[in-house]
Amino acid sequence: TEELLRTSEKLSVAGQLAAGIAHEIRNPLTVLKGFVQILSCKAQGKDKQYFGLMKSELSRIEAIVSELLFLAKPQCTTFQRQDIRVILDEVLTLLGSEATMNCISISALLDSDLPLINCEANQLKQVFINIIKNAIEAMPDGGQISISSTIQNGGVCLRFTDEGEGIPPQSLAKIGEPFYTTKPDGTGLGVMVSQKIILAHNGTMNISSLVGQGTTVTVFLPAV
Ligand code: ADP
Ligand code: MG
Repeated sequence: TEELLRTSEKLSVAGQLAAGIAHEIRNPLTVLKGFVQILSCKAQGKDKQYFGLMKSELSRIEAIVSELLFLAKPQCTTFQRQDIRVILDEVLTLLGSEATMNCISISALLDSDLPLINCEANQLKQVFINIIKNAIEAMPDGGQISISSTIQNGGVCLRFTDEGEGIPPQSLAKIGEPFYTTKPDGTGLGVMVSQKIILAHNGTMNISSLVGQGTTVTVFLPAV
């Protein structure tokens, strides 16, 4: 429980930060992107390459900011009773081509009689996207992602298992800290945002992993 408390404390600090900074950054960023876009059309030779770099770095900042904006949201959203299978289906459609391109097959075997869950569909989608993207990124040579479900205390427990590189124990402890990433172009915000969203649903999210074997992310969403 001490670990749990520390996690939620981390999240609220990050949430405040997010609310303050993200909005302030977004507008000037949009202006910058617009002018870089205009200038890059006129650029020649090496300048064209520099502008290309500027655009991709600006996009990276934009990605970080939009992930941070998710942190500020959970308080003011509308929860509705939804079928988790429908939400997951939409996510799998979204990520289908990315998975195929990376030689990854995704199997989702969810119970047909899962209870409806009181949730904010778009936020849960964001969580599933974050988890599945991490699984894809953990298997650069392809592999299998298995998604399964069980009913627990009237709620839904989802398991996302990959066959990726796995996570060493010392990293496992840091995952979910803001900006903790082991990827050259990672934001280190996906897990934190996901945890925040699941927490707002009174659920839990756990990651277990064995180096060389793979990782399982377990998400529990309670009954209404
Ligand atoms: P990012 O994906 O931008 O790095 P995340 O918060 O989504 O940020 O993940 C943080 C870190 O957690 C990743 O950089 C990676 O080291 C680790 N991680 C998360 N999911 C997995 C997974 N399925 N397999 C291996 N490592 C993972
Ligand atoms: Mg990620």
